[in-house]
Amino acid sequence: MPLRRLTMPSAMRVLGLLASVRALQFTPKARPSLRVFSSAETELTIDPIAVTTEGEYSANEMAPDVAVEKAERFRAINAKDMDKLADKYPRLKDKVVDIKRSALIFPFKASPYLVDELIDWDMAGDIGLDPFYKLVFPTMDMLTQEHQDLLNNACDAGDPKEIKATVEIIREALNPHPAGQKTLNAPKKAELTGVQHKYAETVLFFAAAAQTCHAYCTYCFRWAQFIGDADLRFAQKDADSLFDYLEEHEEVSDILFTGGDPMIMKTNMLKQYLEPFKDPDHLPHVKNLRIGTRALTFWPQRFTTDPDADSLIELLRDVKEVGGRHIAIMSHLSHYRELSTKKVQDAIHRLKQEGGVIIRSQSPVMAGINDDARVWNKKWKEEVRLGIIPYYMFIARDTGAQAYFNVPLVRAQKLYSEAIRSTSGLCRTARGPSMSCTPGKVEVVGVQEVQGTEAFVLRFLQCRDDEWIGKVFFAKFDPKAIWYDDLEPLPGMSLPWEEAGLPRPCVDEPCQVEWMDEFLEPVYPLEVV
Ligand code: SF4
Repeated sequence: MPLRRLTMPSAMRVLGLLASVRALQFTPKARPSLRVFSSAETELTIDPIAVTTEGEYSANEMAPDVAVEKAERFRAINAKDMDKLADKYPRLKDKVVDIKRSALIFPFKASPYLVDELIDWDMAGDIGLDPFYKLVFPTMDMLTQEHQDLLNNACDAGDPKEIKATVEIIREALNPHPAGQKTLNAPKKAELTGVQHKYAETVLFFAAAAQTCHAYCTYCFRWAQFIGDADLRFAQKDADSLFDYLEEHEEVSDILFTGGDPMIMKTNMLKQYLEPFKDPDHLPHVKNLRIGTRALTFWPQRFTTDPDADSLIELLRDVKEVGGRHIAIMSHLSHYRELSTKKVQDAIHRLKQEGGVIIRSQSPVMAGINDDARVWNKKWKEEVRLGIIPYYMFIARDTGAQAYFNVPLVRAQKLYSEAIRSTSGLCRTARGPSMSCTPGKVEVVGVQEVQGTEAFVLRFLQCRDDEWIGKVFFAKFDPKAIWYDDLEPLPGMSLPWEEAGLPRPCVDEPCQVEWMDEFLEPVYPLEVV
């Protein structure tokens, strides 16, 4: 945004903000210290955006947080803004201390659109029970009692070093990189600091400037991307090494641009990753560009009234029409209320009609936010009406505040089947509750009696070993199981993964149906299809 286009007060504000951004860029010496005071009444601030790797954001790359827009300007709400926000929404007043203290552990950031338009401030009872309140405002209840005590004691003692050390200990205990993301999914190439390649056909790319979102979900499984620890982050600026890698991997048909949220980037920044695909000869084996985003419902203005919304739509349309690629917006959508505003409906319409993209929806099922069959039923129906394809219901991952949000596997499955039952077939593209875990994506298909024992019926939707994809297997029924590593094999059977979660070779296991192979004969071999 050139400064000459700004009014003087706006320009001053931007200059001030840019100065603070520069001051906050990470270097060992300049790293901002944690400002924590002993009393619960005083300021407790960790600004997750402030602590970033050096040079990650240049002035214009930071535009989503500091942009001056014609109509509405995006301005993130951070922990330090809580007192002001409580003046606007007095029901927050008795929550501020809790939010600020828990925000020492969990990255906190809210979008003004979400706070003003999605939270129902007039609801009866505790505002803390509003699904969108729960979605963005952290609470100490998300920590175990032991961790709450540790943090409270450290804060009460008031020594910043001790508080910082305590925060690190607690964060480390919250499994910042689940499902082997660091150890198993990252290609072993020094230059590929922002690439994960877990499944043959799909590569995940974490653009450095996309490692933030318009707001942070309190249950985010990528929270480690936002806490400023360079060792924990996936992030990469340059596109060339990604393209070089893809050149060598012709099996890759899909790139998932993820984060954070790639839609936090200005169009000019996003172009370096997407524009090359306008050339049909550029990596022709890459057919599908997926963009994982929550901007659609955290800041729908990104697609309509942001200063570079038009160029974004044009870029998407050109990549599709000139480059011949499929662009899939993988939209994180938890609740039907997210689809209710005119701003969101305008954004959906524009993306589809002018951008030519396909929007698919996905979300985890989370206690207190959407663990209700009626919510999913209504959500899928409304999505289909608006032209969105229901895609995934996920299970809370084993990271962060999982203990606070988890829904047991059996309950999630029941909820799914109740929700899907009274929908039209167009909604039934939604996959049942699935765990995106170390071995792959495992769907909980149901509960049945197998050889006289109650059992979970499970299915691989994805797997590190593609031999397993589509295969059904069983595990002992356990009403408390919340994650794949709670599962036990049925007597005489084994689970399809080793202790570390890596798939066993897909050979003659009692839980497989090898005898069906004879029925496979008439199927056309893949290579001649
Ligand atoms: S939108 Fe996605 S990446 Fe961003 S905070 Fe929410 S869950 Fe995390």
